Amino acid sequence: MVKNYINGELREAVSGEYFDNFDPSTSEAYGIVPDSDERDIELAVEAAESAFPMWSATPAAERSKLLMKIASLIERDLAEFARAECVDNGKPLHLARTIDIPRAIRNFEFFASAIHGFSSESHTMEDGTVNYTLRSPIGVIGAISPWNLPLYLFTWKIAPALITGNCVVAKPSEITPMTAYLLSEACIEAGLPKGVLNIVHGYGHKVGRAISLHPKIKAITFTGGTKTGAEIASIAAPMFKKLSLELGGKNPNIIFADCDYGRMLETTVQSSFRNQGEICLCGSRIFIQKPIYDKFKKDLVERTKKLVIGDPLETGTDQGAIVSSQHMEKVLSYIELARTEGGKILCGGSRFIPEGRCKDGWFIEPTVIEGLPYNCRTNQEEIFGPVVTLIPFETEEDALMMANSSEYGLASIIWTENLTRAHRVAAKIETGIVWINCWMVRDLRTPFGGMKSSGIGREGGTEALRFFTEPKNVCVKL
Ligand code: NAD
Repeated sequence: MVKNYINGELREAVSGEYFDNFDPSTSEAYGIVPDSDERDIELAVEAAESAFPMWSATPAAERSKLLMKIASLIERDLAEFARAECVDNGKPLHLARTIDIPRAIRNFEFFASAIHGFSSESHTMEDGTVNYTLRSPIGVIGAISPWNLPLYLFTWKIAPALITGNCVVAKPSEITPMTAYLLSEACIEAGLPKGVLNIVHGYGHKVGRAISLHPKIKAITFTGGTKTGAEIASIAAPMFKKLSLELGGKNPNIIFADCDYGRMLETTVQSSFRNQGEICLCGSRIFIQKPIYDKFKKDLVERTKKLVIGDPLETGTDQGAIVSSQHMEKVLSYIELARTEGGKILCGGSRFIPEGRCKDGWFIEPTVIEGLPYNCRTNQEEIFGPVVTLIPFETEEDALMMANSSEYGLASIIWTENLTRAHRVAAKIETGIVWINCWMVRDLRTPFGGMKSSGIGREGGTEALRFFTEPKNVCVKL
């Protein structure tokens, strides 16, 4: 049973109601989640507001120690966290164990240490007048996160907000609440003062909306779909809340004929299908230069067919379950759309029914499609599943035009051994993140986020520490 974490205590929702939590690999309800609403948010905001004077005055070194303690408790219980993430989300256990949970630990460690190097600016004028910038915590922050990398993204928001002296009211996805619940237990054990972090579970239209609406929540950090981001902004922007929105993507993976082919193919299998393609950074539109199109198509299909789909708890599994039946239906409907738009399914294309324990689970075969124009719906709308399309191109200009035709602008991948071209394309491509000859290599100091409909603002490193603080310029005439 999952509980809310409010004012340092684990509690039921005020409504006393719960809804089911499902294991996507079996489709069975295996737990219950508090059905919270604006009354729980009210309690959480009150607790956060009361804790704020104490927490914001706590020396950064003390806050840092507490974050390190939380990190060490997650590390101690890594196996439990990883299993919980795997069962809740459907992702392969080895992925949760080697990527999701270690990254959540790293998020706390990184910001616990980054705060020591965080400085503010000073500007001296010609006549000796000095300006310096004070940066103070904002107050109560709302944090709302999605289901695809549950603890990884939840802590990516919470850690920088806390280290800068803010108090937080956080809402994980209702589809994957388990590791956020385990985190609240870790915070209690670590001795995090009550009210500093509050975790409220429940639906987006109740809990998330209440966060957007609450006048005492001064800033919102959100990761999720573009439509939800727009809804949050429509409520929060007229209230002049500070907003960081990390939204959807339709990322191009541009492969030039002169690339390091082996490395590219290896990585492209990952960037297409890791975590069932449910990573906002996956390269779902693959543009391939014509001279290597046929070879690439054959090799990618061959590699994709070898991916092992099935029980996420099994060691050899490459592809786990899709997070919910609703999302599975959505992804399947896009494969159907691709067919009606004239796409040719080269492999996959259907629901997958494993044998044994997971026979009723929500699985989809990794799917490769070709033959679609770059501007059709399949190539323009976010699918967020194990589905990629192949699009041939002739020149660099063609590739750039098609890559930039998307309303999204989150991430891109460029494969070429031509150094000049790599930098030229990187400069012209309309995405917040560009990977050249690699994918998902993350230095937590770098700005992270998207352009266009992929969001506003950047997270990570100094960008995050700046977002969670209010700058004040002090001008001193000497
Ligand atoms: P979602 O927008 O449905 O939900 C995200 C969160 O918002 C959940 O906690 C949900 O309960 C809450 N929510 C829903 N309706 C709300 C409302 N009206 N007001 C406030 N909160 C509300 O997204 P999802 O399906 O959980 O996640 C998938 C999406 O997230 C994809 O579009 C993906 O690209 C995106 N994503 C983006 C990034 C990034 O860094 N840019 C990272 C991961 C996922």
